[in-house]
Amino acid sequence: MDDTHDTDPAAFRTEARDWIAAHFPPSLRGRGAPLASETLDADQLRWRETMGAKGWGVPTWPAAYGGAGLGRGHARIIENELALAGAYDPIQSMGTIMFGPTLLEHGSERQKLRHLPGIARGETRWCQGFSEPGAGSDLASLQTRAEDRGDHFLINGQKVWTSNADHSDWCFCLVRTDPSRKQGGISFVLFDMHQPGVEVRPIRLISGESPFCETFLTDVRAEKDDLVGSLNGGWSIAKRLLQHERSAISGGGSELDGGLSLTELARERVGVDAEGRVADADLRARIIRNEMESRIVAQTLARAAAEARAAPGADAVSSILKNAGVRVFQTRAELILEVLGHQGLGWEGGGFSEPELASVRDWLHGKAWSIFGGSEEVQNNIIAKRILGLPDAAIRPAQSERT
Ligand SMILES: Cc1cc2nc3c(=O)[nH]c(=O)nc-3n(C[C@H](O)[C@H](O)[C@H](O)COP(=O)(O)OP(=O)(O)OC[C@H]3O[C@@H](n4cnc5c(N)ncnc54)[C@H](O)[C@@H]3O)c2cc1C
Repeated sequence: MDDTHDTDPAAFRTEARDWIAAHFPPSLRGRGAPLASETLDADQLRWRETMGAKGWGVPTWPAAYGGAGLGRGHARIIENELALAGAYDPIQSMGTIMFGPTLLEHGSERQKLRHLPGIARGETRWCQGFSEPGAGSDLASLQTRAEDRGDHFLINGQKVWTSNADHSDWCFCLVRTDPSRKQGGISFVLFDMHQPGVEVRPIRLISGESPFCETFLTDVRAEKDDLVGSLNGGWSIAKRLLQHERSAISGGGSELDGGLSLTELARERVGVDAEGRVADADLRARIIRNEMESRIVAQTLARAAAEARAAPGADAVSSILKNAGVRVFQTRAELILEVLGHQGLGWEGGGFSEPELASVRDWLHGKAWSIFGGSEEVQNNIIAKRILGLPDAAIRPAQSERT
């Protein structure tokens, strides 16, 4: 949807504010979105159902697919008003950020009607079956095979780092349908995770969490109807999906601030000078630089989104924005730890506040952001080749690079 569908923004802001005030359960104020592994309490469930019915988790999707048919201007107003109310978007998921937008562009009408409404209501959870033990950055080396069995495909192989696979209902997956070609032998299929042959083993991290899994596939069935795009045409769809993923990553860094305002925190912990500024001039300069870069990334993201609306299709700008956005919020996480001093060293137990404990976890979690969605180095390769037009010889030997 483009912005021309939007009615008066000021009136819509009032409508959104009133609606959120009337429907967002006060008990959830200031609490982040629950993890996929959490069982929802009554208020969390009610909030998800209410937002799902309103279509405001995916406001720009057409109403026929569970959205609200609004333009991006109104979508931004909803986002702002949720933040101002201390509310979270209970619908946001891989389905809304990555898979849904890709299906809107590449799926058949039947696929859209079948799969999008469940995502829009927050009921169906999706995972991404791309990476394999031998295919991360060099994604086109993937070996998971899908054999044509007439009315369905039979899938055998192994995926890895499948985020929330143990809490997912469906998987969007890259499979090899022609072993004689690399990129040109890959198809994009969807399959039900609740079927025999799908075995999910959570990978336990040093933090005790298991945010992702190894996923073993033995004679798993995907209906022919669940092939997205053409047979062996999955690579370009995967590239588009990764661009949606990167765009979301470049704008998603606020999740890493543990709810703390960096400037306010620095004023409180480091003290202020006679003019009320953060007392340490060097730290102050670095905080200002980070805030300026954050705004530059946000404005460039908005410009890139406007350009993409004018000329939709695959582009390499998402690689620049991903690297720039991730750099900004990794630096921010470092600055927060620096400001917290010893209080930023706690891992658990008394003596540390919740935001302090969250800050160190955010800092560590932030390290993953320059890996998933395509690593920083690989994005630099894409920028060098596709945007700057540098010759292959200037960079490491060509791979297929999760582009
Ligand atoms: C938190 C998290 C969640 C994830 N969730 C999912 C998921 O849900 N589904 C999914 O499919 N995958 C997921 N991934 C996997 C992720 O996409 C891969 O980790 C990523 O693409 C890198 O692949 P790799 O880990 O195999 O590293 P490798 O490809 O082995 O890379 C190792 C190092 O070598 C560098 N390198 C590789 N090739 C080049 C090159 N050509 N030039 C220069 N440097 C190079 C890389 O930058 C990296 O530093 C997740 C990863 C993380 C960290």
